Amino acid sequence: AKAHGRSCFRYFSDELTRAAEQRLDLEVRLQRALRQNELRIYFQPQIDISTNRIIGAEALVRWQDPVHGLISPARFIPVAEETGLIKQLGEWVLLETCRQGKEWQQKGLPAINLAVNISPAQFRNSHILESVFNALEQTGYPASLLELELTESALMTHENEAVETLNALRKYGIRLAIDDFGTGYSSLAYLKRFPLDVLKIDKSFVEDIPHQKDDMEIAAAIVAMAHTLRLKVLAEGVETEEQLAFLKEQGCDCYQGYLVSPPVPADQFEQLLRAQMED
Ligand code: C2E
Ligand code: CA
Ligand code: CA
Ligand code: CA
Repeated sequence: AKAHGRSCFRYFSDELTRAAEQRLDLEVRLQRALRQNELRIYFQPQIDISTNRIIGAEALVRWQDPVHGLISPARFIPVAEETGLIKQLGEWVLLETCRQGKEWQQKGLPAINLAVNISPAQFRNSHILESVFNALEQTGYPASLLELELTESALMTHENEAVETLNALRKYGIRLAIDDFGTGYSSLAYLKRFPLDVLKIDKSFVEDIPHQKDDMEIAAAIVAMAHTLRLKVLAEGVETEEQLAFLKEQGCDCYQGYLVSPPVPADQFEQLLRAQMED
């Protein structure tokens, strides 16, 4: 029994070592990816629910690794956060999104809102104001067309500091959205303290419409309460006409999801915008 116990331990610690090695490997490769321009921004249209027109896009990072192919942000963002690489990565995402936005503006495409995800570690530790102002200044992209998506956990940990940072961003004309709403602390009383413009209903509340009555009631309640706080409501992860009809009935303002389009590369997004200009 003793021998067995030891081999179990050995097995367990080997597993740990392997996980640590994989992580280190990912970290080193991500560092190189940043240097060698292997990251891309994909854009997912955000649609006005009453006019059905594109009013914006969420910028989502992708990593095209020459050996491993397309790596999901769900895998490498957490590693970037833990290792501090998120500062550099986040700065690149901001800069590249604003650069692309400016290019579309110069090509005469309709003015749309571009939304960038800001991770909690990036919001707290890494001079977010400086990164944002720098991206706007370097590209000439207007602050009024930039939106930042923040999560509840980014805002709740250092509340007072967060309020100050948000006020400074808002003063500059940048719009602020709360992302994944309903999955974290989710206190509406808290929400009132933050100067926000948009509330994004997490896709977990959307995916089971119309089968889960609870989720439907939660989604409806979130819309109503957000409107009381004068926030615009955007539902994420809309995949079916039924989900869209329900959200529209509840008074939701905007949506995004596979029903309209998955996140696509910049040139494909540009085609979507051009197609819309024609009708
Ligand atoms: P998120 O901010 O909640 O982004 C929404 C995710 O849902 C995206 O996954 C998007 O592709 C996916 N999605 C969109 N429509 C649908 C739909 O109709 N159904 C379903 N099932 N999914 C849909 P993605 O692009 O893999 O990103 C995953 C997460 O990685 C994001 O979640 C965000 O937290 C993070 N992330 C992505 N890009 C960035 C970035 O540039 N910076 C930071 N800090 N985080 C990022
Ligand atoms: Ca988001
Ligand atoms: Ca989400
Ligand atoms: Ca998320």
